[in-house]
Amino acid sequence: MKRTIVIGAGFGGLALAIRLQAAGIATTLLEQRDKPGGRAYVYQDQGFTFDAGPTVITDPSAIEELFALAGKRMSDYVELISVTPFYRLCWESGEVLDYDNDQQRLESQIARFNPRDVEGYRRFLDYSRAVFREGYLKLGTVPFLSFRDMLRAGPQLARLQAWRSVYSMVSSFIEDEHLRQAFSFHSLLVGGNPFATSSIYTLIHALEREWGVWFPRGGTGALVQALVRLFRDLGGELELNAQVSRLEMAEDRVSAVELADGRRFDASAVASNADVVHTYEKLLGHHPQGMARAAKLKRKRMSNSLFVLYFGLNHHHTQLAHHTVCFGPRYRELIDEIFNRDTLAEDFSLYLHSPCITDPSLAPPGCASYYVLAPVPHLGTANLNWAQEGPRLRERIFDYLEQHYMPGLRQQLVTHRMFTPFDFRDQLGAYQGSAFSVEPILTQSAWFRPHNRDDRIANLYLVGAGTHPGAGVPGVIGSAKATASLMLKDLA
Ligand SMILES: Cc1cc2nc3c(=O)[nH]c(=O)nc-3n(C[C@H](O)[C@H](O)[C@H](O)COP(=O)(O)OP(=O)(O)OC[C@H]3O[C@@H](n4cnc5c(N)ncnc54)[C@H](O)[C@@H]3O)c2cc1C
Repeated sequence: MKRTIVIGAGFGGLALAIRLQAAGIATTLLEQRDKPGGRAYVYQDQGFTFDAGPTVITDPSAIEELFALAGKRMSDYVELISVTPFYRLCWESGEVLDYDNDQQRLESQIARFNPRDVEGYRRFLDYSRAVFREGYLKLGTVPFLSFRDMLRAGPQLARLQAWRSVYSMVSSFIEDEHLRQAFSFHSLLVGGNPFATSSIYTLIHALEREWGVWFPRGGTGALVQALVRLFRDLGGELELNAQVSRLEMAEDRVSAVELADGRRFDASAVASNADVVHTYEKLLGHHPQGMARAAKLKRKRMSNSLFVLYFGLNHHHTQLAHHTVCFGPRYRELIDEIFNRDTLAEDFSLYLHSPCITDPSLAPPGCASYYVLAPVPHLGTANLNWAQEGPRLRERIFDYLEQHYMPGLRQQLVTHRMFTPFDFRDQLGAYQGSAFSVEPILTQSAWFRPHNRDDRIANLYLVGAGTHPGAGVPGVIGSAKATASLMLKDLA
């Protein structure tokens, strides 16, 4: 029997497979790794649980919708715990901002930095909410297949000054440099340079204020498992250790997918959650459309990469918040180096994840799991040898954390592991080792982004960070909704 195939069990692939299966379309999900989740993979080590990727879960309503489609309740599958503060933002000068959803508390902290910025922040929040309504609620889950769709959105984008950068827009409301950083760094969470990416991405701020920040009990991996269980409860089939190596074509349609181990699945339609360059170059490189698309995609700008360091300690640093952003000495210059220079900067800004603050079960008693990440250039920007750079950067980051945030860290260390741009490239098939796929600048967004359905191959679809609307868990879950709307129409 011909089935619909989804390649890759990241959040985008899982959400699409659930939507298809819930609509009665027999769907097989093929994942190359031994566990589902993609960037949300999980490492278990000596009793420590490490979520590999996403930890800031926003827009729970989009996740809940997947369960509701299937006539189920999310709470029967996974518990989401509210996280407060959303983030603790720290600067080397000792300033701290606990950013959360309490307007009064937030304003009194803003006033400590600069009393005039309280009013500016209110106007920024209004702006961010307007962008959120246009960019997320209206356009975040609809496919942009024709330039006409783009033209229709044009007047709104112009009204919201979408050509300006995130940082420039934030700076038009807020004077203090710390606060400018605090309200502009969000685009980095989806691979966007705040100095280059469209001010549309300020919507992330309103999105967090609207629905809060959440963490699944048991870690993000528990949310992945909940989605897998939902898919299977609906009758869907998930194959792990199933690496797709080639899409078989019959004229201008995909007829089957071939696996590296020789297996073959007939397909009525195929959606790829794999990296977009990988999809066209590796899986479809034998077809003219594959070659042409891959060549075009390689000319696009890719998002930065990340260096991620997972570590378990025999000590619980309860002085930390669940999410900490550690701003380094430089902001604009550092970001410029990450996105545009062919070297690794001497300094860094870090995101520190301390999940045991919310859920101590992620480590043995008295211990705690952590990860810390630093944005770094992708391999096309800086062709570094991460086999050498990785251990060096690890030591610099451990020293820094011990000195500034986690006294005694080295003595408390039980286990650690790294994930470098080489791993994004080799384990996830990410072009240039990018952590977030195609960079979200205005000229690579909406219609300018790879489309949710291929323009020539009528039964080939894309889902995930490389297509519309883009990276981040809410983004890829939104992409699944956009792609499913096309597939359900086409397959009807
Ligand atoms: C360290 C890190 C932290 C992040 N933190 C956050 C956060 O806090 N909040 C947030 O919202 N977002 C965060 N993000 C971004 C978010 O995780 C990603 O944008 C999102 O998870 C990507 O989902 P995706 O659906 O595109 O698929 P991916 O997660 O990229 O999964 C794609 C899957 O396809 C599989 N695959 C590839 N090729 C093949 C093939 N040939 N055959 C079979 N399978 C294949 C891969 O193995 C993988 O499992 C973070 C990202 C990283 C890397």
